[in-house]
This record gives sequence, C-alpha cells and structure tokens, in this order.
Amino acid sequence: MLPQSIQLPEITIHEKVSIDPARAAVIVVDMQNDFAHPRGRLFVPDAPKTIANIARLINRARIHGVPVIYTQDWHMKEDPEFRIWGEHAVAGTWGAEIVDELKPLEGDIVIKKLRYDAFYGTQLEHLLSRVLRRDVLIITGTVANICVLHTAGSAALRWFDIVVPIDGISALTQFDLYAALRQVDFLYKGRIVRSVDNIEFTR
Ligand code: ZN
Repeated sequence: MLPQSIQLPEITIHEKVSIDPARAAVIVVDMQNDFAHPRGRLFVPDAPKTIANIARLINRARIHGVPVIYTQDWHMKEDPEFRIWGEHAVAGTWGAEIVDELKPLEGDIVIKKLRYDAFYGTQLEHLLSRVLRRDVLIITGTVANICVLHTAGSAALRWFDIVVPIDGISALTQFDLYAALRQVDFLYKGRIVRSVDNIEFTR
C-alpha cells in the first residue's frame, strides 16, 4: 500500500548562482497561450505568476548577450500526444503562440518541439553545443514536472549544467512542482535558486 503521507526529502536551494554570460543560455519552455493564458486548452493556473519573473530574467540575459531560447510545443493534427492531453498547441493556432508578455524579440531563438523533451527531434543540442557553444542552461517555463523537467533532464544527460529558478516555473500541483525540483537537485545535479533575481551574470 502507498503511505497516506510522506516526508519530503530535503532539496538544496542555492542563495545565489553566478554564471559566466559567455557560457549561459536561458531556455523558456512552452510559455504559450495553451498553457499560460487563462483561455488556453491546458491552462496551468500558476503559470501567469511566473511571466513577470521570466521577463526580468530574459531582459537581463539579453543585456549580457546571453541567448534566449524559447521552446514552443507544436503539434500537427492527430499527433499521438492528443490521446493523452487532448488537442493543444496545434501548429499555427493562437494556442501555440507564445504569450504576448514574453514575445520573442529579434535575436531570440524559437525551437518548435514535438514532445516534452525539447531535445527530441529538434536542433537544440546542435544549436547549443556547436553554434552558440553554451554549457550552462537556465531553465524556466511550464509545466515544471513535464516539459521543464524532461528538457532539464535531457540537458543534464548531455552534461549541460542546469540552473532552475523556482519563481520561473509552474506546475498543476505543489506536489508536481516539488517532485520536479527534487529530480533536478537529486538526480540531475542542477542548481536551484528561489528566484530569477538570485541568478547573476558575472565573468
Ligand atoms: Zn504537447
């Protein structure tokens, strides 16, 4: 039988993380209308609270020359994922667009993805390793235990260093958020900070 209650494992939260801007990239996962707008098909109610935090981070990143890479869930009609989630992020629809507040600017990069893992079937690894030559990834967006976690895990398996600010991610439940952070800390040896404001870019 499953226990009725469990003790939460400790998670290491770093007071501050300093990252060389020449090595860093920010990844904004799936901050699209279908997930982050109240009229979206798979709306995550906590996602809008992260928008201003992500905006602050990416503004600072751009100032420091740190690439800002968006992932965009992007499905064709009859994608097998619709059997799990119903239709969402359908190519070319409003739901698939990145929310207005975080619209990519010129110079930002958008990676359209098919699955939770932004490395699956995309150019992301080539882009990061061979073109941009970045090995420290600050990962934000939604959903924390789905696309954020799978992208963070996939990055860690490729030996990227990952940094996750708690106020830049969102999930459907507190449990899911905590479970994602636990995996980032324990399994993938990523660094967790409470806020995007605890990340500084210094050479
Ligand atoms: Zn999807």
